[in-house]
Amino acid sequence: MGRTIIIGAGLCGLVAARTCSSEGGVLVLEAGSCPGGMIRSERRDGYLLEHGPNTLALRAGHATDYLEQIGLLEDTIEANPEANKRFIVRGGQPVAVPTSASSFVTSSLFSPLGKLRILVEPLLPRGSARKKESVADFFMRRLGREVRDYAANPFIAGVYAARPETLVLRHAFPAIYEIESKHRSLMLGGIKTAKKRKREGLPKTRLVSFKEGLVGLPNRLAEELGDDLRLNALVRKISRDGDNWKVVFEEAGELKEERANRITCSVPAHALESIEWQGLSEGDSLKTLASASHYPVAVVHLGFLRKDVLHPLDGFGFLVPEKENLRILGTLFSSTLFPERAPKGHVLLTTFVGGERQPDVTEKSDEELYELVRKELQGLLELRATPTFRNLVRWPKAIPLPDSGKDDRLAAAKRLINANPGLILNGSHLTGVSLPACLEGTESLLSKNG
Ligand SMILES: Cc1cc2nc3c(=O)[nH]c(=O)nc-3n(C[C@H](O)[C@H](O)[C@H](O)COP(=O)(O)OP(=O)(O)OC[C@H]3O[C@@H](n4cnc5c(N)ncnc54)[C@H](O)[C@@H]3O)c2cc1C
Repeated sequence: MGRTIIIGAGLCGLVAARTCSSEGGVLVLEAGSCPGGMIRSERRDGYLLEHGPNTLALRAGHATDYLEQIGLLEDTIEANPEANKRFIVRGGQPVAVPTSASSFVTSSLFSPLGKLRILVEPLLPRGSARKKESVADFFMRRLGREVRDYAANPFIAGVYAARPETLVLRHAFPAIYEIESKHRSLMLGGIKTAKKRKREGLPKTRLVSFKEGLVGLPNRLAEELGDDLRLNALVRKISRDGDNWKVVFEEAGELKEERANRITCSVPAHALESIEWQGLSEGDSLKTLASASHYPVAVVHLGFLRKDVLHPLDGFGFLVPEKENLRILGTLFSSTLFPERAPKGHVLLTTFVGGERQPDVTEKSDEELYELVRKELQGLLELRATPTFRNLVRWPKAIPLPDSGKDDRLAAAKRLINANPGLILNGSHLTGVSLPACLEGTESLLSKNG
């Protein structure tokens, strides 16, 4: 197969590197000072902080097998079972999401009318014109206004920091799209799927991390690469040179070049145009790819003395529907989710702000953001004192949204790959943003275009 140069050492780039290294030599060029891209974990003052993703959702199958192959499965740390309980804010209070028929009946998350509307779902026909249907329209059509506003809206804020009106269901939640395609009803399909999994002895989805945080995954992949991974190496220019590719990059203030017969470009969509491309056929398609929408997100970590938070923090965390008119998107109870994330006698709360809903909020000063989050948490979790620990991370371009332009972007990537032998385009803007999607999507892209 020959040598491959991989640009970007986020999860997509690292997975690509591992696959390509078994087929020939690889060189990974990463602009940052550590591998992992958005996966960044930091231990400070006794806290373990996740700057980006917090959990890896392992279903039986690919991601689990992959962790086993790289010898990391036994190092996984399971989320606290209490994390099965999730809250959504309604009427200014976190309300537990019902997880059983009996808790559904008594829950105050939905009104009696809203509950009746949900129960009608199994009787509804399959939708028409579903290919471009937004997440908001889908939930409105199948489960009604309350589910759209008090389930889909906060859930989309939690996963994509976006609005359900913007995202296309088929791209954002392909599994839900498939359930309607196959079974018509979400509820009946969900029950059938759960029964089948039980019959086949498949375990439930596990939420995991590692002792020193999710960075354990990119670190293990980087370890395998050794000197084939070059950090602080910013790629400036990529040119096609006959059957070869030439990559010019800046390292320690010097411009250097490397050649290979294959390139796998695993940088975020918004970074594609910061590279100068030469000799590329269908080069205009890069503009389409780079046009993916990204919104800014701020991640605010606050540590408190346990006794100063009256809420029991007995769950994963809470999400905030837009209708509640708050400025935070949601908060993870990080020290409940995984043990040892806060010093003894303390708790760690991780709050997300901004996204498509209120991008401007992320432009506030550090002090303003800390105060805004503290104030809103005070009302929701009954804080009795100010935090004893604070940390702020800003992602100016956080998550590429699977919106109505995604089909065009997938087609643009295909045109570029077909027209330029040896070029593979990769990254969460194409694979899907969850970590398992990055993993599976990268391997599938490489096997189709290898
Ligand atoms: C706040 C936040 C929370 C999240 N939470 C979760 C979660 O809980 N669970 C989950 O499954 N997913 C979560 N995600 C999504 C997930 O983290 C990302 O989708 C995934 O990590 C993206 O991986 P990637 O390899 O595509 O991109 P990235 O991680 O962005 O990696 C791209 C790499 O390319 C490098 N690069 C860019 N330009 C150049 C250049 N010119 N030369 C060399 N290198 C370059 C960058 O430095 C970077 O390291 C979250 C994301 C964010 C932002």
